[in-house]
Amino acid sequence: IIQITMPLNFLGTVYREIRQALTNMSEMFELLDQPPEIVDRPGAPDLKVTRGEVAFEDVRFGYEPDRPILKGVSLRAEGGRTLAVVGPTGSGKSTLGRLLYRFYDVQGGRVTIDGQDVREVAQDSLRRAIGVVPQDTVLFNDTIGYNIGYGKEGATQAEIEEAARAAQIHDFIASLPQGYETMVGERGLKLSGGEKQRVAIARAILKNPPILILDEATSALDTETERQIQDSLRRLSRGRTVLVVAHRLSTVVDADRIVVLENGEVVESGTHAELLARGGRYAQLWKRQESGEGEGEGEGDAEAAP
Ligand code: ATP
Repeated sequence: IIQITMPLNFLGTVYREIRQALTNMSEMFELLDQPPEIVDRPGAPDLKVTRGEVAFEDVRFGYEPDRPILKGVSLRAEGGRTLAVVGPTGSGKSTLGRLLYRFYDVQGGRVTIDGQDVREVAQDSLRRAIGVVPQDTVLFNDTIGYNIGYGKEGATQAEIEEAARAAQIHDFIASLPQGYETMVGERGLKLSGGEKQRVAIARAILKNPPILILDEATSALDTETERQIQDSLRRLSRGRTVLVVAHRLSTVVDADRIVVLENGEVVESGTHAELLARGGRYAQLWKRQESGEGEGEGEGDAEAAP
């Protein structure tokens, strides 16, 4: 018996350890696809968020030495305001979020939160201050309740349900035979893109961070789902500093400021109305998207999808 139970106990321990490690790492994996090589400076102080102002100052960065992605980008999101970044695919929009979260270090310039360089503060304090609603949410092979509650250590069932309500996924969960105990992930119930986004929103609501990175999903959702998710995101964004990585222009209209990134540089910035009036790059992108739109709100090239 000992011979049999020993390995089983061992497997249980390994399983728990792996699950814990995955939990700790998953926030990073949500943004990123590689483990970090970034370490704290010895004695790095905690980040102190006051207004929640986020600034990129002349930031230079490339994943490979001979291929610069950001070539001196400066932008500023004032505390409590929403800054949206738009631009062609591959222009480096998502990279901005990865640098703010310090998954990578800049190669020139700096990224600051309330004047503190993100490289100078303890990483766990930085990551506690930033919530991420990623393009594609990673679900654990666990219950849907666990997947939402993971946003906050020690979240109670009542808190989880409240967050699920605010993210407009509670009714869906309540309609499942096993409710919050329903297993999801690869070996459980598969959630749709829109449902996964709502799980991510619920997690962010529970985490309640002063700064948010919204990396919009590239996949088109149906108009009604899109509207509901926008609605939840608007509520989630209230009172926080938000960096929206926008892949569809329809979602940036209300941003306090819009920045157009192209070839690693900021080519325009302003409000939606200002940028339309200017008749430049943003206006062009907008016109192209409008003409590409059918009845839905998706991008023209996404319409072939079922
Ligand atoms: P999209 O709108 O398509 O999501 P984006 O503007 O968000 O694009 P990024 O994801 O920031 O673009 O990527 C910018 C460039 O960096 C792309 O050319 C991409 O191929 C490259 N890139 C992204 N991640 C890595 C990586 N881990 N290693 C090497 N190159 C990368």
